[in-house]
Amino acid sequence: MSFDLTGKVALVTGASQGLGSRFAETLAAHGASVVLAARQKAKLENLAATIGEAGGTAFAVSMDVTDPASIREALSAAAGELGPLDILVNNAGIAVQKPFLEMTPEDYDQVLDTNLKGCFLVAQAAALQMKEKGGGSIINISSILGTEVIGMLSTYCASKGGLLQLNRAMALELTRFNIRVNAIAPGYIETPINSEFFQSQPGQQMIRTIPQRRLGQPHDLDGALLLLASDAGAYMTGSVVTVDGGFSLR
Ligand code: NDP
Repeated sequence: MSFDLTGKVALVTGASQGLGSRFAETLAAHGASVVLAARQKAKLENLAATIGEAGGTAFAVSMDVTDPASIREALSAAAGELGPLDILVNNAGIAVQKPFLEMTPEDYDQVLDTNLKGCFLVAQAAALQMKEKGGGSIINISSILGTEVIGMLSTYCASKGGLLQLNRAMALELTRFNIRVNAIAPGYIETPINSEFFQSQPGQQMIRTIPQRRLGQPHDLDGALLLLASDAGAYMTGSVVTVDGGFSLR
């Protein structure tokens, strides 16, 4: 069993910060050449330089996952630079926090277009390359809120629940092309976007409801990522790996 990814080409969406940056660094540290995609290209270029300094290979491309033309252009530029994809981490995502009765149709569209339709669009474009290449691994970053619910995040919960079913449907159809499709369902992981909240009183209270009594850190997802990306997970498809310190047991 090996987590070695030498010779593989991986695309990580939402690589400009948070979990996506960590996923990209972890894949690169295990030998993959990594395509870094998001809208803020300057941040991606900084990360590409950091990965390069550590001895890895990374290439930054602008991509808006809600825009099919932007995805096409990014994948074509990446293939020209590093070759066709073996691994996709569908990580780009957003949340709008509001009471259900105040959630607007625009909020709904923005969240669903990014978190669900975005994953569909990027996975389809990547799977076409993987099919030609003879196989691959797609990893969809869902959330424990794909199955659990908390207040103020109705559209987010809907998008992540939809992604779990898309994960299963894609897995079923793409197996014949030797493409595995799996999801990671993280619990509360500390990233720049939420660290302020978790320092607040309600945030601290929320941490006390996690059975392991701590927030996850981005590195806590390394094992799940490498399992699903590498041959170590060769017989896994349509699976969901939950990494939540026990949150969903409550
Ligand atoms: P961040 O907000 O820190 O990062 C989100 C990333 O998505 C950014 O790099 C952003 O880049 C990118 N992004 C957003 N919209 C688009 C778009 N339209 N096109 C391309 N890229 C986009 O979030 P996290 O790192 O915390 O979360 C990453 C993923 O993990 C998300 O899917 C999230 O739902 C999921 N998750 C996170 C958890 C947590 O506790 N942190 C828990 C469970 C799941 P840019 O602005 O440059 O485009």
